[in-house]
Amino acid sequence: MQISENTVVSMHYTLTDDQGQQLDSSVGQEPLVFLSGAQNIIDGLDKALQGKASGEKLTVSVAPEDGYGEIHQELIQKVPAENFQGVDDIQVGMQFMAQTPGGQQPVTVIGVEEDGVMLDGNHPLAGKTLNFAVEIVEVREASEEELEHGHVHGEGGHQH
Ligand code: ZN
Repeated sequence: MQISENTVVSMHYTLTDDQGQQLDSSVGQEPLVFLSGAQNIIDGLDKALQGKASGEKLTVSVAPEDGYGEIHQELIQKVPAENFQGVDDIQVGMQFMAQTPGGQQPVTVIGVEEDGVMLDGNHPLAGKTLNFAVEIVEVREASEEELEHGHVHGEGGHQH
């Protein structure tokens, strides 16, 4: 069976950036299971998988605009260290939840300077070209209930 909108896909993937650094992988774990056409995975990858069948291997390169977006400079800002009460040792790479007008937003510490802490509110994969090495494990028809919910039920999906 071929992948189309409203099919359930199981696949293994390894994600690397343009420098060849591995960012994520399902290999050695359970495959990723998703409902195609339901925004379960990034659009650029879902589109590239249309028409593929189980057993197929392919490499998909997804540009930032079809992945996690470009980096927005306005989401990178310096805040006073006294905003981090209760944190003794602020280090690069730490993640916090920040209160913003749009709600809670995860931010990553990208620099600690004498006059403040540099925070980046961009998605960690923003601005990156994402290279997926994919192996399709299984393709099946989605159930009515899965289509109604917009996600997969059962193994690898929602258990309810
Ligand atoms: Zn459900």
